[in-house]
Amino acid sequence: MAQQYLLASDFDQTLSFNDSGVVLAELIGITNFHDRVKGLSQINLVQQGAELSYLILHDPEFRRVRQAQLVETGKRIRLKHNVQQFAKALENLADGYNFSFAAIIRASAGWGKITVLEEIRATLGISHDHIIYMGDGSSDLPVMMHVNSYDGLTIAVSEAEFITRVAKRTVLSDNAMSVLVPVMEDVLRWDSAKIRRTFASHGLMLREWGKSRTDQLLIQESAQESAEPIPVETQAVPPPAIAQGA
Ligand SMILES: [Mg+2]
Repeated sequence: MAQQYLLASDFDQTLSFNDSGVVLAELIGITNFHDRVKGLSQINLVQQGAELSYLILHDPEFRRVRQAQLVETGKRIRLKHNVQQFAKALENLADGYNFSFAAIIRASAGWGKITVLEEIRATLGISHDHIIYMGDGSSDLPVMMHVNSYDGLTIAVSEAEFITRVAKRTVLSDNAMSVLVPVMEDVLRWDSAKIRRTFASHGLMLREWGKSRTDQLLIQESAQESAEPIPVETQAVPPPAIAQGA
């Protein structure tokens, strides 16, 4: 029977380039969104990551927001490259493995994300150590610590130190497919040659793969006909240093 894994992801700035709060604020003509968020964090009343929900409920200017403006905000959010391809690639990644993909878009941040993740995990009947979680911000820290404590895999997609210190792996790329690299290495235990071959089979080439403390990837769409095997360095690559929890 196939091994079941759950890959859960934060949305803002993990699968998208922009933050929904910033986009909505611009749409309704508010220029100091970040200052307002900062102000909220100073009063310690609002959970990190839940600032936008709080503003929409309590800030006089945000309370005017109508549904149509939320829909328009959604349309203006620019997704990272290949999010769809990423979800599809996960479905048939490897024989004997079954990955379910969930993007956590609506959660009350912080502990709220743990609750949502646990609900999805329990519904799918997946064990704790088979959770993979990716995120970029402070609202992802509690859920990452939760996943780490059960031996799951956590992936930071931001180079901010507060999160790379907690996440087991860090990947920086504008392409969502890049997150498959730590999954292939840490879950599937594939070597770099196999990883490059798999990317090539999806029409993608790992052009720059800086394996220092952080995986930095520049992924290029290769032309249809060049999806043939690409040269792979024979030189042994030292294992990437892993950003361990502090
Ligand atoms: Mg985020």
